[in-house]
Amino acid sequence: MLTHPDFLWRNPDPKPSYDVVIVGGGGHGLATAYYLARNHGLTNVAVLEKGWLAGGNMARNTTIIRSNYLWDESAAIYEHSLKLWEGLSDELDYDLRFSQRGVLNLAHNLGDVREGRRRVNANLLNGVDAEWLDADEVKKFCPIINVSDSARYPVMGATLQRRGGIAKHDHVAWALARKADACGIDLIQGCEVTGFEIAGNRVTGVRTSRGPIAAGKVALAAAGHTSVLAELAGIRLPLQSHPLQALVSELLEPVLDCVVMSNAVHVYVSQADKGELVMGAGIDAFNSYGQRGGVHVIEAQMAAALELFPIFSRVRVLRTWAGIVDVSPDASPIIGPTPVDGLYINAGWGTGGFKATPGSGWVYAHTLACERPHPLAEPFALERFTTGALIDEHGAAAVAH
Ligand SMILES: Cc1cc2nc3c(=O)[nH]c(=O)nc-3n(C[C@H](O)[C@H](O)[C@H](O)COP(=O)(O)OP(=O)(O)OC[C@H]3O[C@@H](n4cnc5c(N)ncnc54)[C@H](O)[C@@H]3O)c2cc1C
Repeated sequence: MLTHPDFLWRNPDPKPSYDVVIVGGGGHGLATAYYLARNHGLTNVAVLEKGWLAGGNMARNTTIIRSNYLWDESAAIYEHSLKLWEGLSDELDYDLRFSQRGVLNLAHNLGDVREGRRRVNANLLNGVDAEWLDADEVKKFCPIINVSDSARYPVMGATLQRRGGIAKHDHVAWALARKADACGIDLIQGCEVTGFEIAGNRVTGVRTSRGPIAAGKVALAAAGHTSVLAELAGIRLPLQSHPLQALVSELLEPVLDCVVMSNAVHVYVSQADKGELVMGAGIDAFNSYGQRGGVHVIEAQMAAALELFPIFSRVRVLRTWAGIVDVSPDASPIIGPTPVDGLYINAGWGTGGFKATPGSGWVYAHTLACERPHPLAEPFALERFTTGALIDEHGAAAVAH
């Protein structure tokens, strides 16, 4: 066990039993652990991570944060998250490099324009800041965008959420892990969950690569691997796992001071503190668990990026990668209990769950601790796929973030 004071968290061996076992040490698992301790005083908790902490999508995403979703249920949960982001650096006593630099969602056709304007109105009704910009205003806000009529997909306008922005993902993970650890929660790396102990219809523990661990409750927070895990407990989830790719450029002088996203051409880009352009692509269409994707997807993404930003034409790509995202039929998350007593899921955040990290952790911790869904999580129950009460966020979520 590492006990050196310079380490941000301990590296403990698993205990035989915990009140709550969280499966997955990404952002959502860590945030859930932190809020279990902070909001509910529950600390006999373990986070089991098969690899290293936050080495999954948490390390692989493009860090865009916003709350301008269409439906009331989504606006409420993402706005709750955004409000938490606004105080999170202070609360965790760690500079998360949270930068509210504004997020533009570009419109390239009349359908986009109608959807964007509708979303601005819906956001305003929900108390979420939102503006509609025409093409000239887009150019003023972000001078390096090509708004010319001769572009293949001309920019016809954009929504703008000024409170949206980015944060530094590894700082977020480290800060949450440090606080959870300080509360006494065990963060156990290199510990893969390989099965569940179920007595009657109640989960009583997990089987892991480091031996069995008994648990009062088990909380899945395994993003792209949730459906595989749920299947081990006999539950078939309506989730599809896809690779989602991103890339960074070489380091540049400051050139882009906002976030620009386009669902139509599948580009979302910001410039990180260090100077690299961070760009994401559309999902690879096939299902896969390999954390890599097809080159053609990146090629199409770069072609679109160059048309939007001719100034990037000589920029070199430094590296590309993929994460495995869990996409639900209505592009909204699934949070709450499962048909197995004591087994809970928090999944389906798909291509857009980084922004939800604190909000998701907050409502999931409440759901686990109180044994009933947090009011913000209630509409996102698994049952909606049988009742039909879907929350269709394809317009706001689709692939752009
Ligand atoms: C390229 C890309 C770009 C993205 N861009 C954005 C963006 O700009 N904005 C945004 O809001 N979202 C974005 N996302 C989505 C976001 O990253 C995810 O929705 C979010 O990170 C998922 O939650 P998580 O952090 O807990 O997942 P993860 O970090 O993937 O955590 C899940 C963990 O579970 C572990 N695990 C899996 N199976 C087991 C097992 N059997 N036993 C133990 N541990 C297990 C994994 O190793 C992993 O560490 C992007 C994703 C990708 C891939």
